[in-house]
Amino acid sequence: MTGTLYVVGTPIGNLSDLSPRAIETLESVDFVAAEDTRVTLRLLNHFEIKKPLISYHEHNIRDRGEQIIHRVLDGENAAIVSDAGMPCISDPGEDLVRLAAKAGIRTVVIPGPNAAISALCLSGLSTSRFAFEGFLSTNKRSRKLHLDSVRDDTHTLIFYEAPHKLLNTLLDMRDTFGANRQIALARELTKIHEEVIRTTLGRAVEYYTQNAPRGEYVLIIEGATPPREPEITLEEAVEAARQLMEEGLKATEAARQISAKTPFRKSQLYSALMEEKANETT
Ligand code: SAM
Repeated sequence: MTGTLYVVGTPIGNLSDLSPRAIETLESVDFVAAEDTRVTLRLLNHFEIKKPLISYHEHNIRDRGEQIIHRVLDGENAAIVSDAGMPCISDPGEDLVRLAAKAGIRTVVIPGPNAAISALCLSGLSTSRFAFEGFLSTNKRSRKLHLDSVRDDTHTLIFYEAPHKLLNTLLDMRDTFGANRQIALARELTKIHEEVIRTTLGRAVEYYTQNAPRGEYVLIIEGATPPREPEITLEEAVEAARQLMEEGLKATEAARQISAKTPFRKSQLYSALMEEKANETT
């Protein structure tokens, strides 16, 4: 019988965040595919779990992925874990899940901590609609294209960043999004030095020009403010409709066209036009 592939979330710092279900799963599977076997070995040792580990990382994704799939097709149960947080999120796993789905293998998630969502929850920024943007490229042009592509996005934006690249990233973000855009910098989540700095991009640049960034960061950026609809009064809307009538449109069509561009209903504009007409004839 074909086995199951378990996608297991692991802590992003605090080992107590490994869930009981994750522990049970890691104890029960035949082998664990790990991004860095040394990191996972430390985790398993801490929980006294003894399990064969095989490395699965971005440089062996293809061959190792196929090997894992064959073993699961042959009946073994496998878990995939990354160094921290959820596999598949800026970490290996996505391809393996795709291969498993293609092979008809049952996939089960054991949800665990995730830095992006944890940071979003602490950001104080809108959580109702957000976009995960992952890491920016190290290539200057690709970074710029990426940032330009989300400049007017109204979703809250989530980025991962390494400390040594933080200042450059903040400079690029300030130049693209503007110095007044709000940002929350969430660092070292679930660890001793957990901290959230809620500020603007301009002030964040000033701060990190003076203070070296330390630890792991998630950057949460306020979404763009949607452009405000120009305000128009009912009188101005009726006047615009009247002008269309002077150009030869019927009242219903003039009302329809102006209604489409303003907050006023077609019937409201039409009634106002008819009222004007009635007043003109009396
Ligand atoms: N798969 C992971 C997850 O589910 O969050 C993300 C892995 S990604 C390779 C690593 C990045 O996640 C770091 O560069 C940092 O941006 C963020 N990160 C991971 N742990 C963190 C923590 N404890 N505090 C803040 N950010 C963290």
